[in-house]
Amino acid sequence: MKLFMSFLIVITVLVSASCQTKPTTQRTKVVSADHWSTHLPTSIERVEKSEEEWKKELNEQEFYVIRKKGTERSFTGVELLNNKKEGLYTCKACGLPLFASDTKFKSGTGWPSYFAPLKAEYIKEDTDYNLGYARTEVMCAQCDGHLGHVFPDGPQPTGLRYCINAVSLDFQEAKPEPKKSGE
Ligand SMILES: [Zn+2]
Repeated sequence: MKLFMSFLIVITVLVSASCQTKPTTQRTKVVSADHWSTHLPTSIERVEKSEEEWKKELNEQEFYVIRKKGTERSFTGVELLNNKKEGLYTCKACGLPLFASDTKFKSGTGWPSYFAPLKAEYIKEDTDYNLGYARTEVMCAQCDGHLGHVFPDGPQPTGLRYCINAVSLDFQEAKPEPKKSGE
């Protein structure tokens, strides 16, 4: 009986331990964005606005996704999704450059996908349980606007897939600086 009790205790501990295991959150990984540095701000200026102010600046769909953490239907932002021009993808709400064309890849999901943000400090992460399981939400670090989620099934060099709502982004055509020889 004593053996049985200790067996029960071990099982209980194991079960509760597995329940407490925190979901693995994706840590933002960046690749060098030095060749875009002339297009990047030197610092982040916090942007805080009331719900009413955001409503005036954003259309209904933008407000739903960016401020209410909604998700657009896949393949709705086709223009941005299929965009192959060189340049920067900026936050629709505050203009902060978030992703560059050279980290964009075709994921087949219907949402613009990138394997890294321009800078780790431009992106905020949070764990979201809206679908009943943990996902890592990504937000603009300057205005807290919802962008999408990051998943661990992206291509190298980071292995991450930043799955972003097209409605959360704007595109600015820009040329990177030529890479120095030896890099
Ligand atoms: Zn923003």
